Amino acid sequence: MSQALTIVKDLRDGVLSANLVGHIDAGSDYSALQFAGVTQLHLNFKGITLINSAGIQKWVKFMQSVPDTVAITFEECPPNIVNQCNLFANFTGGKKVTFKSFQAPFFCETCDDSVDILLQTDQVLSGGKVTIPEPPCPKCQSKMDFDGIEDKYFLFLTR
Ligand SMILES: [Zn+2]
Repeated sequence: MSQALTIVKDLRDGVLSANLVGHIDAGSDYSALQFAGVTQLHLNFKGITLINSAGIQKWVKFMQSVPDTVAITFEECPPNIVNQCNLFANFTGGKKVTFKSFQAPFFCETCDDSVDILLQTDQVLSGGKVTIPEPPCPKCQSKMDFDGIEDKYFLFLTR
């Protein structure tokens, strides 16, 4: 089933905030995002459920079209977006992007379950070094461990 990309946007005092929801694929249309008078672009990826290779090509073209005078922030990137940022250095279209927050998978031994937890970059990254937190399980409050390969998953923060 196709889940066309929906962009929910809000422009206030030169700050363009956009929530991206659905699939980033070949049919994704970014023309709703215009940059006249915009100084900051805050892109929230929380609602992205799928990204495919044709979608990445179109996405990179969109990123390249953002004027260099616009400061770009990525927020609440789910693991599928984090993985693209790690695998594909050009995912940001060559722009300098500030990663404000992102999700990471953690494992609760008590519940025997994995859950994606939202992390703020400034809680994880300090002086160019990554420190992985032990967030409480949302169900049982036990401390959880990161459920992945640390050197790979957090690479995008230090590159
Ligand atoms: Zn638990």
